[in-house]
Amino acid sequence: MKRLWQKFILYAKLPEMRLFWFFLPFLVVLLTINIFYLPLVWIFLSLAIFMVLGAIILVNNLRLARSNLEIKIERNELKSIIFNLYDGVIAYDPDFKILIFNKAAEEIFNISAQEIIGQRLSPEKAREPRFKLLSQIVFPSLAPLVVRKSEPGVYPQIIDLSFDEPKIELRVSTDKIIDPNGRLLGFVKLVHDRTRELELLSSKTEFIAVASHQLRTPLTGLRWAIESLANQALPKEQKELVDTALAAANNLSKTVNDLLDVSKIEEGKFGYQFESVNIIDFIEEAIAGVQDLAKKFGVKFYFQKPEEPSIIVSIDAQKLSMVLLNLFDNAIKYNVSNGQVIVGIERVKDQPYIQISIKDTGVGIPKEAMDKLFTKFFRADNVVKFVPEGSGLGLYIAKNIIKRHGGEIWAESEINRGSTFYFTLPIDPKLIPAREIVYGEE
Ligand code: ADP
Repeated sequence: MKRLWQKFILYAKLPEMRLFWFFLPFLVVLLTINIFYLPLVWIFLSLAIFMVLGAIILVNNLRLARSNLEIKIERNELKSIIFNLYDGVIAYDPDFKILIFNKAAEEIFNISAQEIIGQRLSPEKAREPRFKLLSQIVFPSLAPLVVRKSEPGVYPQIIDLSFDEPKIELRVSTDKIIDPNGRLLGFVKLVHDRTRELELLSSKTEFIAVASHQLRTPLTGLRWAIESLANQALPKEQKELVDTALAAANNLSKTVNDLLDVSKIEEGKFGYQFESVNIIDFIEEAIAGVQDLAKKFGVKFYFQKPEEPSIIVSIDAQKLSMVLLNLFDNAIKYNVSNGQVIVGIERVKDQPYIQISIKDTGVGIPKEAMDKLFTKFFRADNVVKFVPEGSGLGLYIAKNIIKRHGGEIWAESEINRGSTFYFTLPIDPKLIPAREIVYGEE
């Protein structure tokens, strides 16, 4: 009962109840007059009518007051959630007038909400040092380094922006604010500050770089010693042991080299040198380089050459060899005996790109593994058992190299039927990105 009373008091104080309280004294006065001038029956009748009306008004007002209170609480809750979000939130109307600017945004841009809310941003504002960073976020074309993470024109738009001095790394996702009739009301941007995250990642990368560098020298010595042993005339049992040790040392050395490459890629220091080559000859040479391995595994290689004798592209020959070697190596290793590998080149229709395909008749890739194929250290369950060695770094390195060339890499596969790996390269060197960008698994 007490709680009900407290609730009544809470609602009674709300502005929506003001009308009710305003009319109450009038009702009382009217009733009092009635008592003096009207016959008894009329007094009871009007009293009853007034009471019913009063009750209806009271209940309705109470209901209205309650729902308004709930809306207010929800709105305030939402406001406080947005305000206290860990990521910066900026909302603006189609004229770039700032509507929302939360606490995290205040910290990232070093501007107070009070100062910026209601102001109109324009590219010219970027000239004022205080608003430079914010303007570059709202108008990314003004930013020095932008990496698009989503398809153009598709919302939410996700981009990564990097700034030097001071070093700031931001991931910004932009979405439209649309009313139920489809009218554009504005845009909202979620700004995630990744500076610290990337710093931590870079110290991890640095650790891997140093560790793998340190491992390389003793490993070379070890391999040299085992190789010299393997070349000597040994009894059969000992020879087998030495061969196993040599294979293990070779694998270890490949993994260490892969790790070193990964750390260089992640530091943006893989160092690319582009030159013009005839990609048809280049691929033919790469195929010749893996013929011995293919023979060993009983796999036949076919090269479907295009009709034209030469297609000139700008590539880093050493890096692209790594990609081809890895893809060929996988197509052989994860094949069946008497299997085939078909390599093809074709021009992409109506686009300034060529597409290279490597199709095998191997074990295939499980559907659930397709998403993780190009991520670091990933190896699918169906190959781990029959090819236990492997670092799971080859495709990650390949993806970074292809992206650096301005191309894309992807795969199609059917389990137990085979896989096809595709990659594209631009024919126009202008489509090659200007600097090294890390394509991690974010
Ligand atoms: P690794 O070959 O050292 O394991 P990669 O990064 O080259 O590393 O390949 C990652 C994983 O992708 C492989 O372990 C395998 O599961 C799968 N894979 C790659 N190429 C093929 C292929 N041609 N056929 C089947 N699976 C493949």
